[in-house]
Amino acid sequence: MSQFASSLREAARFIQDHDRFLVVNHVNPDGDATGSLLAMGWLLRQLSKQAVLVNEGMTPEKFMFLPGASEILNASEALPQKYDAVITCDCGDKSRVGRVEHWFAEGCELLNIDHHPTNDHFGTSNLIRTDAAATCEILYDLVCFMQLTVSPEMATCLYAGLLTDTGGFRYSNTTPHLMQAASALLSYGVQPGILAERLLETITAGHLKLLRKVLQTMEFSENNRVVSMAVTRCDMEEAGANDEDTEGLVNYGRNVEGVEVGVLYKEKNAGEVKVSMRSRSIIDVAAIAKSLDGGGHVRASGCTIKGGIEEARQIISDKLREAFQAAEESSYD
Ligand code: AMP
Ligand code: MN
Ligand code: MN
Repeated sequence: MSQFASSLREAARFIQDHDRFLVVNHVNPDGDATGSLLAMGWLLRQLSKQAVLVNEGMTPEKFMFLPGASEILNASEALPQKYDAVITCDCGDKSRVGRVEHWFAEGCELLNIDHHPTNDHFGTSNLIRTDAAATCEILYDLVCFMQLTVSPEMATCLYAGLLTDTGGFRYSNTTPHLMQAASALLSYGVQPGILAERLLETITAGHLKLLRKVLQTMEFSENNRVVSMAVTRCDMEEAGANDEDTEGLVNYGRNVEGVEVGVLYKEKNAGEVKVSMRSRSIIDVAAIAKSLDGGGHVRASGCTIKGGIEEARQIISDKLREAFQAAEESSYD
């Protein structure tokens, strides 16, 4: 039996062996994090299990139409007790759950379901497939393995993750297996036009106002192979934008013809800068993020750096210079 098949079996046993679950996704959740959290909720309820779904913060408004989203709690709500059985969705390391960790009982059993190559196997059980495009793709495998019924609600949540983590079935992680999963989910009642419209096409006024400011900060470096952009707290306030509105901005840099890496520096409270990186085909941005206590995928990663935007820019520029040098040297081999 393959490693993945045995981890599917272990995950199914984990679910069968417990009755009350805390299910959590990562801070600043994206479509895959939210879709997998909700799909796990539908899966557990189908088995008559109790499930509390939680994210550290508020679930972004644009995901609130997904079935069950209004039941997601946030970490500021007091819970009566701690949980002995925890499932994490789309989290590459334990710190990605943020303050929700306070709700984990000491010595709890933890099922870690994820697809990030930087995942450090922090669970007591781990259901990880790093060649999956989305955590929702792995959950779909689990649903098939457990021979569960796929309700239209569950299908919609799973499809949301497949759609968003592949950028609308466009990124290189779009495999035959992923498309087979998407195709099956369509047959279970997903409305693809509505999901694409709401998850990919619709932009907020805040996003557009921020985009106008951010494009003016574009800087080219490394012989025009890197484009970086910056967002300050002040820009956010002036644009009336929230965290959700910054999603996708980094792609404008990476999408410029001839550019290999797009970087977005986002000033946070408490003297920190959130860095998002996207690469086209050569540079492993997951390795750079990992070396700075972040993580992600080879072509999309993130990390948080203490200090201001200029300090973050210096650190990332040095890492990128080294990465380009290493790539050039290996191309001479
Ligand atoms: P983002 O730039 O926030 O859209 O994130 C791109 C990818 O990197 C996603 O797969 C995230 O889950 C991952 N990621 C972002 N920030 C971090 C972080 N601080 N630590 C670990 N992974 C991260
Ligand atoms: Mn994610
Ligand atoms: Mn994901």
